[in-house]
Amino acid sequence: MPSRSGPAWLAVLLLCFLAADTARTQTRTSWLDPYRDNASRLMEAATADDFAWRRLAELSDTFGHRLSGSENLTRAIAWAMEAMRKDGLESVRAEQVMVPRWIRGTESAEIVEPARHAIAMLGLGGTIATPHGGIEADVLVVKSFEELRGRSDDAKGRIVLFNAPFTNYGDTVTYRTGGARAASQAGAVGVLVRAVGPVGFRTAHTGSVNYGADAPPIPAAAVSAEDANRIARLVAAGRHVRVRLSVDGHYEADAESANVVAEIRGRERPDEIVLLGGHIDSWDVGTGASDDGVGCIVTWEALRLMKQLGIRPRRTVRLVLWTNEENGLRGANAYAARYAASAASHVFALESDSGVFWPSTLGFTGGARATLLMRDIGSLVAPLGFREVFPGGGGADIGPIAQAGNVPSMAYVGDPAKYFEIHHTPADTVEHIAPQDVSRAAAAIAAIVYVVADMPERLPR
Ligand SMILES: [Zn+2]
Repeated sequence: MPSRSGPAWLAVLLLCFLAADTARTQTRTSWLDPYRDNASRLMEAATADDFAWRRLAELSDTFGHRLSGSENLTRAIAWAMEAMRKDGLESVRAEQVMVPRWIRGTESAEIVEPARHAIAMLGLGGTIATPHGGIEADVLVVKSFEELRGRSDDAKGRIVLFNAPFTNYGDTVTYRTGGARAASQAGAVGVLVRAVGPVGFRTAHTGSVNYGADAPPIPAAAVSAEDANRIARLVAAGRHVRVRLSVDGHYEADAESANVVAEIRGRERPDEIVLLGGHIDSWDVGTGASDDGVGCIVTWEALRLMKQLGIRPRRTVRLVLWTNEENGLRGANAYAARYAASAASHVFALESDSGVFWPSTLGFTGGARATLLMRDIGSLVAPLGFREVFPGGGGADIGPIAQAGNVPSMAYVGDPAKYFEIHHTPADTVEHIAPQDVSRAAAAIAAIVYVVADMPERLPR
């Protein structure tokens, strides 16, 4: 018979373990004690109201999309600089970058056989134009590159539709970036790519297409999952499906743009840089609220709140709103080139370019000791609901400088299921983003950046 005292003993033992564990965690994180007050103040101020969301609405409503080379982008950059100066941020400046200027033009696609049907579509960013009046061809539907290779004889003269179901962004986006090249190699005259996102409401998702030097560029467009499925079902039923595709994409001369930079100068080690930011440009559909207006706002908030609360960390906190992330990465590369000599003085880099949808996570890439310290720092934002810092963090814009300086990097990552629903679509607008999610992201980023910028030792690599 089991002893009656068994469960009680177990409970006592468990409590001892838990107490020991809590004590260990407390001892381990006691180095954070001098930072707890300010971190709490920053988090409280960030979550006290919906200021950050309203600023995001102002950016995305006033200027709309911010495609590289557009007037909207130029005006948004001027607005950001003015607002940063009003916030009292230091060394506010525009660092000039020449950016590509791709123009979408008018575009359409329709099924012409077996019945006329307008397709929900978006030309892929960087697509070449079709001849005037568009192209019309039979459709070859494939699910993968492998299937296309097996049927390359059937692709000649056709429009290839890649109907790959969305699994995750990294795996599925390869059809958007590489589909045109593969289809062209097989002799296709055009390519359609099923929207890279979970099934939505007949939304097409745009994004860059990469042409290879080994095959002629062909017109490329994204189509909604529903339209892709309809074509696939018709073909599977033995129907002859013909599609007309008309896209008008073209490049004009490079345009002037800029990375927007603002700082809070370090009180003791101003030459050591804690870098954070997002990208101010966007695709030309929707208003770029989630990608990446919100990343700009939540990182900017860290500096605004430090200024408001009179917190000046030991190191310089530098905010950068990069230009041209979406179709060129010219801003990120220009930043790394301009600051090449001080790459190693970058102590930490944080990018927010994956939305702020809850549940969000924090990912970190750095050495073993830095990872332990970052796990401790991450415990400060646990009251906001964050789990332990995950391995793996970085971003397209911080990538080049982080690589040059071997800089420990963090990514703020919103729930991908929600992020990729509206990513690169006309639905990327501010009402899809909850004010409390914006505030919470700002709170977490402010607290983490503050500690990294103020801790006595620089974060090891
Ligand atoms: Zn982005």
